[in-house]
Amino acid sequence: MGRTGIVKDNRYLNHAADSYHPESPERLQAVYKMLEEPDMQDKFVEIQPRVATDEELELIHGRRYIQLVASTANRDYTMLDPDTYANRESYETAKLAAGGTLSAVDKVLNGELNNAFAFIRPPGHHAESNRAMGFCLFNNVAIAAGYSTKSYSLKKVLIIDWDLHHGNGTQHSFYERPDVLYFSAHQFPYYPGTGYVTEVGSGAGKGFTVNVPLQAGPGDAEYMQVFEEVLEPIALEFKPEIIFVSAGFDIYYQDPLGGMQVTPAGFANLAKVVLDFAKETCKGKVVFVLEGGYHLNGLRDSIKEVLKAMRGDILSPGRDDKIREKVDRQLIDPVIRKVKEAQKPFWKNI
Ligand SMILES: [Zn+2]
Repeated sequence: MGRTGIVKDNRYLNHAADSYHPESPERLQAVYKMLEEPDMQDKFVEIQPRVATDEELELIHGRRYIQLVASTANRDYTMLDPDTYANRESYETAKLAAGGTLSAVDKVLNGELNNAFAFIRPPGHHAESNRAMGFCLFNNVAIAAGYSTKSYSLKKVLIIDWDLHHGNGTQHSFYERPDVLYFSAHQFPYYPGTGYVTEVGSGAGKGFTVNVPLQAGPGDAEYMQVFEEVLEPIALEFKPEIIFVSAGFDIYYQDPLGGMQVTPAGFANLAKVVLDFAKETCKGKVVFVLEGGYHLNGLRDSIKEVLKAMRGDILSPGRDDKIREKVDRQLIDPVIRKVKEAQKPFWKNI
């Protein structure tokens, strides 16, 4: 017991909009409160987050862009794009979000912890090398993946992005690199517009981007099908040394931004698929990083189930076979077929 780490820090609440915005401090407050519930209290190792250095941010972001974000600390309020705000605290908070993810990576890679979940904000997967986008300032997961290859000389890093939205920034960061495999299942066509099946990487990175664009509607069974039929065989063949999950909870069935139908039990099962193949390829080294998710109770309940799965809790045994029985094949088979066709040239087992 006690080998699952969590990153939590009240400074993540300092990044806040000046009027209603779905990406709010209340999201983390709901999660932090859940962590105090009697059945969750003292079950996890708290990881002290650090602030990412400029050098670490520059693994993904341009120097001029970092300076632009830094300059927002001098103004009460800045809109960096139509959806993306910064207050005086946002720059520091965003560096702490990226750094907190790196703190989790250190603990998992040095063997102190089996796995970890970074409860941070602002989120990251839309952030491009040179611009803020979709509530994201610095790309936390991309920086952590770049850090794993640079500072730990890892040769194979897998990023799994189950957020409702396609992680354009993460995909672009590694599009031409064979050492970081990016997998995303996302609502499509939808914001941000990227993530076609045919986007498979380029140059040396060809075959190391896997996109599963989904129309609205898939729930637990359909996501499970995608994970077991597409992601799992590719992951077992790729054999990552560490796995990151861009864990967005906006595929929750009541999320105000999305059209997906995933329940807390469904999230637990997706996590179990990932944790199972992680056990085979990298001794279970998985770092979950919070991205979206805008239904506060959904966020709370879904994360609670994922955390139980991460501990291998007796309350949360293996994959639930009953979930598979409810699959809507008409909804999911056509896209799975297309993804397999696009990825067949690169993966024997698909
Ligand atoms: Zn999202």
